[in-house]
Amino acid sequence: MEATRLKRIEKVTDMAAVSGRLASEGKSIGFVPTMGYLHEGHLSLAREAGKENDVVIMSIFVNPAQFGPGEDFDSYPRDLERDAELAEKAGVDILFHPTPEEMYPENSEIRILPGRQADVLCGASRPGHFDGVLKVLTKLFHLTMPERAYFGQKDAQQLAIIETFVRDYNFPLEIRRVPTVREEDGLAKSSRNVRLTPEEREQAPAIYESLQQGARMFRESGDPDLALGTLRKSLGHIPGAETDYAEILEYPSLRPLSASSREAIIAAAVQFSGARLIDNILVNLEGKRS
Ligand code: AMP
Repeated sequence: MEATRLKRIEKVTDMAAVSGRLASEGKSIGFVPTMGYLHEGHLSLAREAGKENDVVIMSIFVNPAQFGPGEDFDSYPRDLERDAELAEKAGVDILFHPTPEEMYPENSEIRILPGRQADVLCGASRPGHFDGVLKVLTKLFHLTMPERAYFGQKDAQQLAIIETFVRDYNFPLEIRRVPTVREEDGLAKSSRNVRLTPEEREQAPAIYESLQQGARMFRESGDPDLALGTLRKSLGHIPGAETDYAEILEYPSLRPLSASSREAIIAAAVQFSGARLIDNILVNLEGKRS
């Protein structure tokens, strides 16, 4: 088989022309949106896309619209050349990496607003964040015309909001969930992990350990308040880290848990000196609550 050569595209018009041609040839497109500085989490999305589609398009775009004032847009890690090599090895066929000016030539006055699902967790801490996510994805979905788009469960709130958006607004594509990829010590892979000091990197696996303790307590007791107490206490003991939030909610609605809830999310965000990290565990409640 001929080795694939990664095609790189920067212009919106070129991207639309290429995906239009692929679609007219009957090729299925799998799309993997990212902000780059690729790690094994992103690459697992690309590999999944490769298994299920004729062509894999990955976007790398640090989207200014989803960063608030004072957040890390400027310092977000970037390395396009390294990313291109990794993407090609993971089976990506087309890398779309527009500039912010190319994506947002004018400041559109049209707003796309998520609903109640964005009022909690990261949406509560980062006002407007998910507006920016929906804005860029609407553009990217139109430009890449995917049959399937791949998202990580690491960003579970984002995934839940996107599933709702795509369903409610009839985007002609399927959202595929991909499990969180972790370091050997349990820390969820994240482009922001490079912003941790060596000491913080040593402490960071305690986020997942705390979530696991909370999940264990929840499974054993069935009591979300007890589990939340365990989780918050454990997070509170991480040196140099401040808990932004720790919550247990119904998933994917992100409403409070009720007797009819079928799945729960146990989620936390923790602020270290140079990086805010998020992680979560989903707990299946089927047959557990009545
Ligand atoms: P980002 O570049 O952080 O915006 O992430 C791009 C995509 O990769 C999103 O769908 C994320 O949920 C997914 N992703 C990020 N980290 C991981 C991970 N550790 N495991 C699986 N997917 C991930």
